Amino acid sequence: MTLLAVRGLHAGYGQGDVLQGIDLEVAPGGVTSVLGANGAGKTTFLRAICGLVKRTGEIHFAGRRIDTLATEDIARLGIAHVPDGRGTFTSLTVEENLRLGAYVRRDPGVPRDMAQMYEYFPRLFERRTQQAGTLSGGEQQMLAISRALMSRPKLLVLDEPSFGLAPLVTQEIFRIMRNINETEKLAILIVEQNAQLALELSNHACVIETGSVVAQGTPDFLRTDEALRRAYLGY
Ligand code: ATP
Repeated sequence: MTLLAVRGLHAGYGQGDVLQGIDLEVAPGGVTSVLGANGAGKTTFLRAICGLVKRTGEIHFAGRRIDTLATEDIARLGIAHVPDGRGTFTSLTVEENLRLGAYVRRDPGVPRDMAQMYEYFPRLFERRTQQAGTLSGGEQQMLAISRALMSRPKLLVLDEPSFGLAPLVTQEIFRIMRNINETEKLAILIVEQNAQLALELSNHACVIETGSVVAQGTPDFLRTDEALRRAYLGY
């Protein structure tokens, strides 16, 4: 059973394709990481799933074909994207950002979920009346993730959550992500330069090189392949 199934995905920005036919799956409740060098096409891959770039090929999500849908319809079906650069509303407070994350919901569970976010990320509770733009980089990442979770997604798509963050903050964020994945069985698709950390969180991983998947399998499979380990794990 798969939650997300991508088949033969091509995508780009106008002059030729960046993605050259990607196949990838995310299991319900699973974590799939996408690794690869700078410029390999990882961000483009996430954008293609979320309908933010021109794409061809098949993308199936929760039993529906979504590669012809617009970004807002894809979001409504349950894919929440935390882009690189985070994208919080800097002039709004933490709490206002969280409320905006829930704007498509009509169910009465929003206050309960907001309390849950503050439990996952106590720093956000301490700073709930502070403008998002005045938060530290780590706190902004926590807010971006929480805001995405407030839409109650089935799949959380994360683009480089560790970018620009100190190692301790990054570890804290990954620890909380693991907790959320385990307790809520939330599926995650994550692009990450810190391959070791990403593999610890994942049950499936793939390596992209110049727009193509060059390896995929379990984290242990990638760790035991010496060439991949040297190229992408740095040891
Ligand atoms: P990084 O780890 O450096 O973020 P990446 O693997 O995420 O790299 P992408 O950002 O997907 O790679 O970029 C893949 C290719 O697409 C690169 O050659 C890049 O220059 C190109 N590209 C990315 N964004 C655009 C854009 N908006 N317009 C044109 N080309 C783009």
